[in-house]
Amino acid sequence: MYNPLVNDDSCSWIKDLNSRTNIKVLKKDDDCEWLVVGAGYTGLSVARKLGQLHPNQKIIITDAQLAGEGASSRNSGYLVDTTLNDGFTSNKELDNYKKKADIYDLGINAVKKFINEYQVDCDWNECGKYFASSKKEDKKILRNFSDTLTKLGFEHNLLSINELSKKLGTNFYNVALHTKGGILLHPGKLVRAMVDVLPKNVCLYENSFLLSWNKIKDIISCEFQNGKINTKKIIFATNGFLKSLGIKSNYNFPITLTASMTRPLTEDEFKSIGQPKEWGVLPVRPMGATIRMTKDRRILIRNTAEIHNPFKMSKFDLKKRSINQKISIKKRFPQLPEDIIKSSWSGVVSRSRNSSQIFEKIDKNIFVAGCYNGSGIGVGTLFGEQIAIKASQENTKEIKTIETRNKPTRLPPQPLLNLGVKIRLIYERLRAVKDI
Ligand SMILES: Cc1cc2nc3c(=O)[nH]c(=O)nc-3n(C[C@H](O)[C@H](O)[C@H](O)COP(=O)(O)OP(=O)(O)OC[C@H]3O[C@@H](n4cnc5c(N)ncnc54)[C@H](O)[C@@H]3O)c2cc1C
Repeated sequence: MYNPLVNDDSCSWIKDLNSRTNIKVLKKDDDCEWLVVGAGYTGLSVARKLGQLHPNQKIIITDAQLAGEGASSRNSGYLVDTTLNDGFTSNKELDNYKKKADIYDLGINAVKKFINEYQVDCDWNECGKYFASSKKEDKKILRNFSDTLTKLGFEHNLLSINELSKKLGTNFYNVALHTKGGILLHPGKLVRAMVDVLPKNVCLYENSFLLSWNKIKDIISCEFQNGKINTKKIIFATNGFLKSLGIKSNYNFPITLTASMTRPLTEDEFKSIGQPKEWGVLPVRPMGATIRMTKDRRILIRNTAEIHNPFKMSKFDLKKRSINQKISIKKRFPQLPEDIIKSSWSGVVSRSRNSSQIFEKIDKNIFVAGCYNGSGIGVGTLFGEQIAIKASQENTKEIKTIETRNKPTRLPPQPLLNLGVKIRLIYERLRAVKDI
């Protein structure tokens, strides 16, 4: 079956879950009132909300892979309240920062409500997060950030080196700021729960890749490899793959990230690093490593972001990045053995020029939500629910907050775009080289 969306089959978060049964693939023509394309946090939240709002209508959701097994299962699991670098723009404008933080706050509430309503166990830990750097001179960046956080009322504190090494079990970092808000969770468990609770009137087709779509009068006709779906309304929730479907292609572009996870540390290994509690570190400079100690003593690291074919990363390419990640872990924890990485994987996210998200009606009965600039756990869940409400012609205070934020700005044309992004990524990588 033709499906260019082939992903490596090695992400530890997915391997932690039970294999699913009764996978339905689209094999003949079908039709519906609502079609949702993409079954990650966004699409699954759209489908769940539509199912609740329209219990008597037929809703179909499709995914090119198994539901939830794209970026939604492959991320680092930080449900963020604040970000220092969610791109390469600065946080100079307080007003804009507040608008972004208001959306993050609604995103956290959306996930919280979901896990409370369905009693989801996703290793939820309200331990906050660290923004840390090995470079002493980055203290200035953190002081400025601290000012912003103080003005907006976010609880946080700057840490001394001693405090830091005790909390993290490494002497690698020299400066850090801890924010109290922000949650660490198991991304795979969260999205799997969203698959499991889809309402009865929602039909899920997996391993079903949307090849093309067009609108003729009031019907949107969607071509898949082995069948066609005709729908009255459609919501695109393919995030890193919006551009490849021609959706808002002048406003967002895909970036591929790679991450690795170790096996759980042994008792002795854990003792050797001082038995720290679960923690998560985000880099002070955009291209530095995100690194996390999980509840079950595994270390996760993500330290690449690049322009790459979003449909496939070869084993060879992945191996190169995995070796790099082994070195990064060793830099921070020299006492740990070399061969503890259990899995390495890639995932695709969507970026915009000004770090704004996409939430809109692009034509009559055609809607899109996505482009979370690397922070989509909460915002994807929120945007999914709210775009379903908007498409149902209802309004909420959440929609008002989302729409108050600037829309993504237009991107330069190709090949300037790729060239510009590549140069920027190289520049940022050089600036963060110690912390990769
Ligand atoms: C390594 C990594 C680390 C990250 N860390 C964090 C983090 O710590 N915190 C955070 O908030 N976010 C993080 N993110 C980003 C986060 O994972 C995404 O923002 C989020 O998953 C977006 O959810 P989504 O449902 O919109 O998109 P996705 O989960 O990407 O789902 C889109 C789905 O669309 C499907 N699709 C694509 N094209 C087609 C097609 N033609 N036909 C049918 N289906 C199609 C895909 O198979 C996919 O399943 C990270 C991402 C990566 C890769």
